[in-house]
Amino acid sequence: MRYEDTIYRPPSEAKSYILQATIGCSWNHCTYCDMYLAKKFRVRELEETLADVRTAGATYGDEVRKVFVADGDALVMDLEHWQAILDACRAAFPRLRRVSAYATAINLNAKSEAELQRLRELGLSLLYIGPETGDDATFKRIAKGAGFDDHVTAAQRARTAGMALSAIFLLGAGGTERSEEHARGSARLVTEMDPEFLSLLTLTVIPGTPIARLQARGGFELPTVEGMLRELRTIVALAKPTEAIFRTNHASNYLPLSGRLPRDRQRIVAAVDGALAGEIALRPEWARGL
Ligand code: SF4
Repeated sequence: MRYEDTIYRPPSEAKSYILQATIGCSWNHCTYCDMYLAKKFRVRELEETLADVRTAGATYGDEVRKVFVADGDALVMDLEHWQAILDACRAAFPRLRRVSAYATAINLNAKSEAELQRLRELGLSLLYIGPETGDDATFKRIAKGAGFDDHVTAAQRARTAGMALSAIFLLGAGGTERSEEHARGSARLVTEMDPEFLSLLTLTVIPGTPIARLQARGGFELPTVEGMLRELRTIVALAKPTEAIFRTNHASNYLPLSGRLPRDRQRIVAAVDGALAGEIALRPEWARGL
């Protein structure tokens, strides 16, 4: 099991075996993201990846229930590559329950329905996708490479193939200028994508990223903490997924919350109101992470 550079994974994959089948992100243009800036994207040599799976199987075989395939948008790999990896994972981990990966709307929409269906049959059952916003102006500003309708289509295609979706949105992504549109658009997109899991993260402007340069030129202003809590409130109050597990447990957030939407909507909104009124303590700045 060999890893190249820093590995990023969703918080919910903390107990998963992480298999680095790709290096970096095939898009790598989002203005706020520095995760793979230093990496030139490539699909790892298949033999190397399969050797890692065999080693992990020999070491942890029975213990592995979940596999997360890294890096930034591993869905981009072609079907042949995925098939070999998923076959190897099923052989190496007899108690395997779930294989997941990050995906973008671009690479989800580039796969045919038959390919997605085949991937699901082979065991790829959960995709993490980060539209970050539902506001088309913000999509363009953050250079996501896809907009509202692309994400709706991507979600429909994943659902048709039988895959679950974990959607990630980013508080603050619209700046002060688009804060309201960003929050309302994100709520609309949650409703349309109807994911099984919904996570909100909070934007941190990282030095060296395009958005940091824009901020330095006065072209972007991060909302205040109160402004981002208001975005959180709007998204929770307006989003209407069928049934989504909701979390703000990522280290970037000021207010860690969890529950189910729509069932726990009132409780979560009340918690945000409590934080806005100063009755619930926020995570201090020093304790936040990216
Ligand atoms: S698609 Fe994800 S990993 Fe790639 S640049 Fe955008 S945020 Fe970063």
